[in-house]
Amino acid sequence: MGSGAALEVAGLVKRYGGKTAVDGLDLSVAHGTVTAVLGPNGAGKTTTVETCEGYRSPDRGTVRVLGLDPVAQAARLRPRIGVMLQSGGVYSGARAAEMLHHMAALHAHPLEVGTLMDRLGLGGCGRTPYRRLSGGQQQRLALALAVVGRPELVFLDEPSAGLDPQARRAAWDLVRELRADGVTVVLTTHHMDEAQELADDVVIVDGGRVVAEGSPEKLCRGGAENSLRFTGRPGLDLASLLKALPDGTAAAELAPGGYRLTGAVDPQLLATVTSWCAQNGVLPDGISVERRTLEDVFLELTGKELRS
Ligand code: ATP
Repeated sequence: MGSGAALEVAGLVKRYGGKTAVDGLDLSVAHGTVTAVLGPNGAGKTTTVETCEGYRSPDRGTVRVLGLDPVAQAARLRPRIGVMLQSGGVYSGARAAEMLHHMAALHAHPLEVGTLMDRLGLGGCGRTPYRRLSGGQQQRLALALAVVGRPELVFLDEPSAGLDPQARRAAWDLVRELRADGVTVVLTTHHMDEAQELADDVVIVDGGRVVAEGSPEKLCRGGAENSLRFTGRPGLDLASLLKALPDGTAAAELAPGGYRLTGAVDPQLLATVTSWCAQNGVLPDGISVERRTLEDVFLELTGKELRS
């Protein structure tokens, strides 16, 4: 393991004709961590990752992967990284096990192919030509191909897209194991739960730039606060409730009898609300505190839904 970051992107700019896909993007990924890159469609995620993989050259800025230039030093870098490709570029007649054995043979210390196939539920389709695999099986094979060489750093493009729940779990377990083995993982995803489950760090990209980054906990803590919801009889006097609450708290009746408070929701606020309810003869049917999720953060920052 070298010193410095496993992946370092500084001021990356990438244009397609007149279209600026990546617009001064900075990114630093520490060794042995899982980083999830989130962003709406067209944000520049794939372009960034493909530049890190050496498939595209930057128009401006620098990219270093394991300390190497992914284009100029591709021959040295390729054996040390794993790349999960989407179906394009695969010879459709190749059989799943052949492809994995071939990829394994290119690396000095590969994983055992049979075990890996079983892990990812591919044990029964080793002799199946690629074109006859289901979409989910192709996806699992792409994941297996990315990791079979026991890379130091692996790029995973939407690793669980299109997988059934069981295969999704298997893919997540594999990512956790890679991390436990000290592998650096950079994944793109549209699934907030995947990022929340797997990532040490989340990077949100929009308009070709990083608009937020940090651990899921940090991102969910910052910015707007949590909310408290309760249900009671319709038409409660919210102005009187607000008088009892700290400045900066907002209250709304979202639906008849459905109330939401936003602000610094802490135990004291909860106690004040229940005490106000007692004084006003209100027995809430339900009361809950909701924490901000990554999806909330994403919506606030980008104004767009997380899912494609
Ligand atoms: P998605 O979530 O949809 O995969 P993304 O964040 O990966 O999106 P990119 O694929 O990097 O986004 O695309 C960024 C922008 O660059 C988009 O506006 C896209 O239309 C454009 N773009 C991407 N590839 C090309 C290309 N080969 N030629 C021209 N424009 C492109």
